[in-house]
Amino acid sequence: MINTHHFKDKLEAEKKTLEEELGQIAIFNTETNIWEATPDQEMMGEIDDNDAADRFEDFEGRSGMVNTLQARLTDVNIALDKIEAGTFGKCEVCGTPIEEDRLEANPAARTNKAHMND
Ligand SMILES: [Zn+2]
Repeated sequence: MINTHHFKDKLEAEKKTLEEELGQIAIFNTETNIWEATPDQEMMGEIDDNDAADRFEDFEGRSGMVNTLQARLTDVNIALDKIEAGTFGKCEVCGTPIEEDRLEANPAARTNKAHMND
């Protein structure tokens, strides 16, 4: 039997960390329910063209980071929903229990080891 309290604690801690990280580089759009990368605050000031190019790259990098964090947050939220629904820890492909060491390494894992690449 899986100790869901243990994994719920881990997932909620990770969710908090992800939301804090996202909060520093993005804002949550409550209409679309997605995080959107914020433009660099310093862009508001007067800058020359070279700076503008550099900061555009920063924004691109930040957008990529936001997408990565957001994808991870989605997985974490799905895992938390499964704990509520009582289906946590089952492989989404074959329905058998996910190995505990795999869940320990990644509590948001959606499949067992046999199906980890599906
Ligand atoms: Zn499976």
